[in-house]
Amino acid sequence: MTPAAGTTGEQKFFEELIRHGHFLPSGEPGVYGRGMVFEDVRNRFDDLVTRACAADKSETLRFPPIIPRRTLEKAGYLKSFPQLCGAVYSFAGKEAEALDLAERAGRGDDWSHHLSMTGVVLVPAACYPAYPAMALRGPMPKGGVTLDLGASYVFRNEPSGDPARLQMFHQREMVRIGETEDVLAWRQTWMDRAQNIFGQTGLNATLTVGSDPFFGRAGKLMANNQREQGLKFEVLVSIASPEPTAVSSFNFHQDHFGSAFGIQLHDGKVANSACFGFGLERITLALFRAHGLDVRDWPKDIRSRLWPETNGASPWR
Ligand code: ZN
Repeated sequence: MTPAAGTTGEQKFFEELIRHGHFLPSGEPGVYGRGMVFEDVRNRFDDLVTRACAADKSETLRFPPIIPRRTLEKAGYLKSFPQLCGAVYSFAGKEAEALDLAERAGRGDDWSHHLSMTGVVLVPAACYPAYPAMALRGPMPKGGVTLDLGASYVFRNEPSGDPARLQMFHQREMVRIGETEDVLAWRQTWMDRAQNIFGQTGLNATLTVGSDPFFGRAGKLMANNQREQGLKFEVLVSIASPEPTAVSSFNFHQDHFGSAFGIQLHDGKVANSACFGFGLERITLALFRAHGLDVRDWPKDIRSRLWPETNGASPWR
């Protein structure tokens, strides 16, 4: 995939992020180190989500950012998004091959034919590991479950000149598994809570029906279907690209994951599920875009919501 060159606005914002120490370039588009102020803002926004989560009494689970290859296959990800997947390959050859591999790599030549697929792939969405784990427990308790998966790294193969399009970023995800009505009501509650959180942080956010970037010609049909049925809602905020950027999504999966992984309700019926995710780096970038690259210039009321213990005094003096 050839990375799309960033627009002038995207390049300018990217350069400002580097100048202020928020991004540390690596040479690969969409792969950046992040500075300490950037990370503090990201974690503080995540804390706002955690505070809003309290009412859900969710079960807090954490998973690593790799999953078994079989999970990706069963979830149907490769049918819908083969262009975005990241699989882990490694070396299992003999000494002569290892020598050739190292020599080729040293010269900057192709060494990929020495590698073979491992049993793991990079997580494309933070909720994926939760479904097989829930299926293994057997039938759900009455009322289903609500899971708080925290902020997990996810991978998307989409190198880009837009600083808001990263190849690896944190998704703050929560999942609800249960009956259709419960799952949809929970999603609605979170769409309202999210708008409130974005309002509190001074972001001009728009909630709208969305669709996933399904692959190929059949993918267009799937995206239309998804829109028509209102399966996905997104929150859009202006960052650096000419079009507004999706910073959060609220997804109703119907019984897709329930069927794929065999998740049963208490009465043995196939479970429905929904999830939402906050793209934490994008939200952090949106905050810097909206309020300035120096946190000391941000409005006092927004600072006091993110850093309540400072009561709005400038953090990072
Ligand atoms: Zn999800």
